[in-house]
Amino acid sequence: MKKAALFAVGDELLAGIGREGNCAWLAGKLSEIGWEVVVIQVLPDEVEAIVSDLEQWVGKVSLIVLSGGLGPTHDDLTREAIAKLLGSPLMLREDLYTPILARYSGPIRGAVEMSKGKQAMIPEGAEGIYNPLGSALAFKANHKGTHIFALPGVPREFKAIAEESLLPFLSRGENVREVIKVVGWPESTLKDKVKGLLDFEGVKLSILPSPNCVTLSLWGKPEVVTGAVDYVQSLIPEDILPQGASSLAEAVLIEAEKKHKTVSFAESCTGGLLGAALTEVPGASRIFLGEVVCYSNNSKKEILNVPEEIIIKYGAVSCQCARAMALGAKALFGSSFALSVTGIAGPDGGTAEKPVGTVCFAIATPKGVETFERKFFGDRSNIRSWAVAFGLEKLWRAIRREYGGGC
Ligand code: ATP
Ligand code: MG
Repeated sequence: MKKAALFAVGDELLAGIGREGNCAWLAGKLSEIGWEVVVIQVLPDEVEAIVSDLEQWVGKVSLIVLSGGLGPTHDDLTREAIAKLLGSPLMLREDLYTPILARYSGPIRGAVEMSKGKQAMIPEGAEGIYNPLGSALAFKANHKGTHIFALPGVPREFKAIAEESLLPFLSRGENVREVIKVVGWPESTLKDKVKGLLDFEGVKLSILPSPNCVTLSLWGKPEVVTGAVDYVQSLIPEDILPQGASSLAEAVLIEAEKKHKTVSFAESCTGGLLGAALTEVPGASRIFLGEVVCYSNNSKKEILNVPEEIIIKYGAVSCQCARAMALGAKALFGSSFALSVTGIAGPDGGTAEKPVGTVCFAIATPKGVETFERKFFGDRSNIRSWAVAFGLEKLWRAIRREYGGGC
């Protein structure tokens, strides 16, 4: 069994000043190639603590990876800890440091040279690993049958070295992970709908909710996992994001491109978050024509031609206003589809009739307009996240059928 233990070293991570990301990223990469990560732990910058935790895992897992603590400062103690674990002295490896030093010039070179008494030291018997982006030498060693990798904590250095000098050398594990993104189902009802998954022997199932999208993660032997994926697909074929789409925005892009359609947005309470979500996906320009963030009533009237009577009669947060906004954006940008959002994200502004969390949406399609009104819960940030996810879901479905339902 290919098992790995990952350790992030750094007092700043324990103090909540920095956020652990390296081990989490590596865990994703390892599970993609069938490895099982049995522990991810954050350790303080203390030799004794690092050694005692590593001792628990050496000989039990095939791979240990440490992130951080290889820098030049007094609190960088990973190399000292591993030297102690191996029972080997630290050796100055000037030969391995020369190509690193050669990349620097001017005053920085002097500073890097000064730090070599620390950054070019690795335990005797360990193999140095070239750092293409930073000045700390990384290294690997073998102890009691466990491969131990010590990589720098700076995320871009950690990832570059893992991609170049660690992941390509690991043989594939026997397990696979498949991820299914389900939209439009609350976690609690989805778990009942797919409860048959528990009968697939040897499949580890995780159900992870996020706004308007539940991720099912299936882990196990390839043939059983394939059967489990087919089972979910046959149960709810309409509610699964297409393969390769890791987000609703990506699903919109895939679907619109397939159908040669374009989209635009008119955003009020989400203030640009829809546009940000879509343009985060590479290639968004192939389908996204533009958007208007029309926060004030005046901008809704002036830019999107929302009739004043609609705002007076129904209010800016109404399906009628959303409808006019979507039609305005569609006309302004000449897009095949336009999605609009207008709502009350709070904490103020709610009324008995339209409490905080009320959000209205409209999708203008080539054949008509459909509108939706929803009440979302939580704080301002949660309400806005839900509004973005819900709007993208409805847009995805509308493009898929090439029409909305009408309102
Ligand atoms: P190095 O081994 O490269 O010297 P270090 O532990 O000495 O690593 P620090 O100076 O502690 O590096 O951290 C450098 C930057 O990298 C900081 O911004 C820190 O928050 C970030 N960092 C360190 N460890 C992690 C981690 N596990 N995940 C994400 N960021 C991290
Ligand atoms: Mg550190």
